[in-house]
Amino acid sequence: MQTQPKASHFIDGQYVEDTSGELIEVVYPATGEVIAKVHAATPAIIEQAITAAHRAQKDWAKMSGTARGRVLRRAADIMRERNHDLSVLETYDTGKPYQETSVADATSGADALEYFGGLAGSLTGEHIQLGDDWVYTRREPLGLCVGIGAWNYPTQIACWKGAPALACGNAMIFKPSENTPLCALKVAEILMEAGAPAGLYNVVQGMGAVGASLVTDPRVDKVSLTGSVPTGKKVYAAAAAGIKHVTMELGGKSPLVIFDDANLEDAVGGAILANFYSSGQICSNGTRVFVQKGLRAAFVKRLAERLGTAVIGDPMDPETNFGPLVSARQMEIVQGYIAKGVAEGATLVCGGERLDKPGFWITPVIFDGVTDEMTIAREEIFGPVLSVLEFEDEDEVIARANATEFGLSAGVFTNDFTRAHRVIAQLEAGTCFINSYNDAPVEAPFGGMKNSGVGRENSKAAIEHYSQLKTVYVRMGHVEAPY
Ligand code: NDP
Repeated sequence: MQTQPKASHFIDGQYVEDTSGELIEVVYPATGEVIAKVHAATPAIIEQAITAAHRAQKDWAKMSGTARGRVLRRAADIMRERNHDLSVLETYDTGKPYQETSVADATSGADALEYFGGLAGSLTGEHIQLGDDWVYTRREPLGLCVGIGAWNYPTQIACWKGAPALACGNAMIFKPSENTPLCALKVAEILMEAGAPAGLYNVVQGMGAVGASLVTDPRVDKVSLTGSVPTGKKVYAAAAAGIKHVTMELGGKSPLVIFDDANLEDAVGGAILANFYSSGQICSNGTRVFVQKGLRAAFVKRLAERLGTAVIGDPMDPETNFGPLVSARQMEIVQGYIAKGVAEGATLVCGGERLDKPGFWITPVIFDGVTDEMTIAREEIFGPVLSVLEFEDEDEVIARANATEFGLSAGVFTNDFTRAHRVIAQLEAGTCFINSYNDAPVEAPFGGMKNSGVGRENSKAAIEHYSQLKTVYVRMGHVEAPY
């Protein structure tokens, strides 16, 4: 497959290059080979993108919602038709196994385009009768939205932000992570092909500095970031200076609580889905696995057995279900945490070896005997490291699960349904699961509480974050003024 894009950026309906921008080498995580080179956006490129987006947005907003939605739904169809190629590219960009990318990335992006394309025609304000007078509200777009993505889901993030933004009549400039610059360019191409006007959806490459200059530009009305909490704090502060709208999808250290009456195989399966998909590089992962005392030994034994059957190897092989980490830097971060876990007294049950081959490979890790104050139980690792923590009763585990700055996700496994709902109601997290983990259908709101974020992606809730209401009071009689 040709992995080198025609040019670094996609602006005003075409590929655009400016080689004076800093060089970014795109590395295939499975081999460490350079598979493409792009350049970071220069101020001239950023200016071009903002000017094009601004112009395109005005006409796009004048179209009916149904006509806008038709473009998005056509783009969804094209994405599904090209799922194979897009999935291969996603695997090159991220290293995630094709077995995953072929069902979770372009497909999820297409779901967002289809869902918000369907909603676009039914976006309305309301009518409020006040005697003879009345008020109506107009649901208007925000204008120019900037999307900034993390590297774990480059296609999905580009669509989860782009689809609701465009459905509501906005334009978008999307900046992918410098680690994974390839996939969003394809999303831009497909939207154009589906009939989006030139300039409506633009992609510019670059590091944090490019994101920062987009966020601070006074012509930008909204910023939607998917990234870590420290970056989120910076971007939120910069957006606040311009009173811009924000969506912040940030990191997590989510609890997965397994009671001793749970179905063991389901709980183990849930813990696997909560920790090892995408080699653990998922924001919502349930990395603090609290297991009730009576079940802990059996749980750890069965988890290790099942993890032993993971197929680690060539991500393009459809049999492979565990791939490398995204970069050498991320691998070093994860190795650092594994070393800390051992040094602080956790029991390394299995995994943590670096495979003796090129690329960024670490085998999946189970730590047992983890306690709340250990670094691996407090900080987001963003790698395949599962920590088992033992608990005795419900009140204790709720307090411990909530003792974190994060609040992205939480899960409960139990066969006692009253308890399941009681516990979930008390967990401080935005996206929760009962006897399941990490499902993210487009119909359901997704996002975090506490330091894990602001706003929600997906579902009808996202509409509130990409549109604003204008209130219009209509007086039907004469005006009575005091003087
Ligand atoms: P980072 O926070 O390092 O980067 C996120 C994005 O922000 C990147 O595109 C980055 O550019 C850009 N950026 C960095 N600094 C600035 C700045 N000052 N102004 C504007 N943009 C900036 O996150 P990672 O890419 O390392 O992704 C991993 C993190 O993302 C984890 O914490 C994870 O939990 C979180 N995440 C959250 C999700 C959610 O939905 N809640 C989903 C997926 C991931 P560059 O990379 O080029 O430096």
